[in-house]
Amino acid sequence: MGISRILIANRGEIALRIHRAAHEMGIETVAVHSTADADAMHVRLADHAVCIGPPSATDSYLNTAAIISAAEITGADAIHPGYGFLSENAQFAEIVEAHGITWIGPKPEHIRTMGDKVEAKRTAGALGLPLVPGSDGAVSDFDEMRRVAAEIGYPVLAKAAAGGGGRGMKVIPSEGELEALVKQAMSEAKAAFGDDRMYLEKYLGNPRHIEFQIFGDGNGNAIHLGERDCSLQRRHQKVLEEAPSPVITPEERDRMGGIVAKAMADMGYRGAGTIEFLWEDGHFYFIEMNTRLQVEHPVTEAITGVDLVREQIRIAEGKPLSVTQDELRFTGHAIECRINAEDPFNFTPSPGKITAYHPAGGMHVRVDSGLYAGYSIPPYYDSMIAKLIVYGRTREGCIMRLKRALEEMVVEGVKTSIPLHAELIRQPDILSGDYSIKWLEEYLAKRS
Ligand code: ADP
Repeated sequence: MGISRILIANRGEIALRIHRAAHEMGIETVAVHSTADADAMHVRLADHAVCIGPPSATDSYLNTAAIISAAEITGADAIHPGYGFLSENAQFAEIVEAHGITWIGPKPEHIRTMGDKVEAKRTAGALGLPLVPGSDGAVSDFDEMRRVAAEIGYPVLAKAAAGGGGRGMKVIPSEGELEALVKQAMSEAKAAFGDDRMYLEKYLGNPRHIEFQIFGDGNGNAIHLGERDCSLQRRHQKVLEEAPSPVITPEERDRMGGIVAKAMADMGYRGAGTIEFLWEDGHFYFIEMNTRLQVEHPVTEAITGVDLVREQIRIAEGKPLSVTQDELRFTGHAIECRINAEDPFNFTPSPGKITAYHPAGGMHVRVDSGLYAGYSIPPYYDSMIAKLIVYGRTREGCIMRLKRALEEMVVEGVKTSIPLHAELIRQPDILSGDYSIKWLEEYLAKRS
């Protein structure tokens, strides 16, 4: 069925991103916002706006009852959750569908399975994806953990089954520290997710983070849209992403992409998803699947020409995938810089009023951001305020253009990570593409 009015259950740049795709399809939008976001760009641009609560996300962007009421009041016939907030909440997806509203996302049962990392790993293994060696499911007994860890070999990584955002994870260097560190990870997981089940994994020494974008139609057809390299991380959080990965050959992309697409087809997966792997010495190891649109999706859009939000909406309408695997071409290179309102080198948050704003422009430069001069960045939410996405026919050309775009970008009134990005893209290892998930933290440690 066709969608005529989408409620956007999110804020910031992604809310604007969804609004843009909807309007380009002739679909109306409903913005829901907290009192702190009344002046946000997407709220101004949306066809309808409903205030759903006070600043605290628990009372607004996570407030299921208020969001469903807003959809009913405005006659929205679909909900797009963006990323974060309720995007991977299977129960919310079920509630949306129970109200006869179209959920622009995967089937709730798939969100649930992949949201539990232990279940996700089991499912991925059964679908034929290569796994990081580790415990067979969750382990709660310390003797059992010591036995499994000895078998895998130290260092091992204790991970929370309910984990996300890098929380509830601890590296265990040797047996002597196991119990104390696992207990720490458990209490972190309990506090963050209300679930302290843990599992163990081989801690890979120097891997890259490489993820595949996939899309399914929910009826057994699925495609992959190539990989993104997200190895530049700080505290397990991505800072800069690129597509394609500098280390993956076209043959390897086709081979691994084929495996993930087949897995998704076999699962009957619907909508957008990302299969995340660590990659070391030419081998892929599945770590998790995200059942939503990712922050870094524009680099994939840049090299494939496919609008991923439009594709999500089409799939939710019951339409087939707009491209076949054979039609998809990967052309050129794209890099995204996440721009946060924070000190570029010590990372303390820097909310406040934007006194001057000039986004970069020119050929193959895209800025996804809700910023404008006079806007006040509220202190209550994620510090990411803009994404700069640059495309070039070659990686080298892309980096040259990125340097130029970063020089042009003006955000005054708050501190931003622009100076960090400007410095990073001048480093020889980044220029040559020779970096792992450890690189950025080591660089920052040396720098200070
Ligand atoms: P989250 O859902 O909390 O983001 P992930 O499983 O996606 O957790 O892992 C986040 C990051 O943690 C990865 O990108 C990688 O940097 C690191 N990581 C995860 N598993 C391992 C592992 N087995 N060995 C080394 N690093 C890992």
